[in-house]
Amino acid sequence: MSAHKCRAANNPLISRVGERSRILPTVKFLKEGYGKIRRFYLGHFRKRYVQKVLELRRGECRRCGNCCTVMFRCPQLEGDAHCTLYHTRSLQCRLFPIDARDLRGRFSSCGYYFVDEVEGSAEQEEAIQHSAQSSGSSTTGSQS
Ligand code: SF4
Repeated sequence: MSAHKCRAANNPLISRVGERSRILPTVKFLKEGYGKIRRFYLGHFRKRYVQKVLELRRGECRRCGNCCTVMFRCPQLEGDAHCTLYHTRSLQCRLFPIDARDLRGRFSSCGYYFVDEVEGSAEQEEAIQHSAQSSGSSTTGSQS
């Protein structure tokens, strides 16, 4: 063993940096795995929740291929970002991102984003109509 390697092995700071560089990819891998399992669970067992949160999803897929390399590179991915099954892709793929949690980290450049509430929902329109009617009637009421 060279003197340099021997010194590095004995230096706790250097060996910790080495440890960290080994641990970080593992943590990233596990986080992505958790996200994958979470999406599988939500997509198959929490369909109502998924339906509700997908109403808040806006934007479109830019086909960057980023979500096609979660944990491993999808075998259907051709080149950097061309999915050969894009139009018939699985539910798991179509559901990405289910909610804003999926867009953290390296997915922040995804073409999708989430709004806080649905604009122009039936309930909101009803509330607007109701307030317009009540203000109209109060206006007419004050004139007479
Ligand atoms: S990360 Fe977003 S924009 Fe990129 S391929 Fe996946 S869904 Fe499409």
